[in-house]
Amino acid sequence: MHEPEHLVIRPPSEARSLLVRVVRGCNWNRCRFCGIYDLFGTVYSTRSLDEVLSDIDSLKAMYGDIFRTAFIGDANPLDLDTEFLVSVLKHLRENFPGVERVTSYARASSLQKKSVEDLRAIHEAGLDRVHVGLESGSNRVLKFQMKGTSQKQLIDAGKKTIEAGMELSYYFLSGLGGRDLWEEHATESSKVFTEVKPHFMRVRRLFIHPMSKLMEKVRSGEFLEQTPEGTVLELRLLLENIDAEGSTFTCDHANNFLPVHGTLNADKDKMLKMIDSFLALPQHQRMAHYDSIPSVI
Ligand code: SF4
Repeated sequence: MHEPEHLVIRPPSEARSLLVRVVRGCNWNRCRFCGIYDLFGTVYSTRSLDEVLSDIDSLKAMYGDIFRTAFIGDANPLDLDTEFLVSVLKHLRENFPGVERVTSYARASSLQKKSVEDLRAIHEAGLDRVHVGLESGSNRVLKFQMKGTSQKQLIDAGKKTIEAGMELSYYFLSGLGGRDLWEEHATESSKVFTEVKPHFMRVRRLFIHPMSKLMEKVRSGEFLEQTPEGTVLELRLLLENIDAEGSTFTCDHANNFLPVHGTLNADKDKMLKMIDSFLALPQHQRMAHYDSIPSVI
């Protein structure tokens, strides 16, 4: 039997999902803070439709229809042709009728390039949700970190995705503005969240890998790493300025200092109070807490 290829990474929420590799690596691969595919030695390359379809056949033969969710990777399948994606998704759905949700990573720039009709066709073929690295809504932060997107693109792409019927999960990377741009990083990101009202706003804390391009900027003094307390203040400022009825706001990763979670706008005060209660703790308790949280990707 043909051995299916494996993904490099997937979101934590897809831990039990069927994982299908439709493309290798990231077609952008320039974000200063990332380097994940370089670390794993994965060079970007596309796969043929036959290869991907036969991976799906093999996965079916190996596991049967046991999965309830599926994830297609690696970093940005939405950059592929719409027809290709539609064929893959239809084959996946036909072979795994028990799958109730299919998700993917996507870059905002790739989503923006597609028409709403194309995105709708992809959704109707079976893609329910996209996980998109917003990282920041600040143009200055995006530019410094070489994200290759702008605030306008994040807003346009987000609105289009939702209009096409897909669920949108936007990831905010706390600490990405460093000590110089943290306020702008928070408030400009709040603007994007308020404009787009994505279904999920997920918070991750910046982890600077020693081999990343961002670490070079830390060493040269061009990027001042955010402090733990600054990260919490930034989270508060971000949340305080979001007005997005119905969106889920969640710090659902082990590297967050506080497990803030709730539905906006109903739970906003409760979430802010949780942050304020933490900030009101004696300094030695706050410092001990920061030390107890792992710095991981
Ligand atoms: S953060 Fe995403 S888009 Fe940027 S290089 Fe990494 S995988 Fe690619």
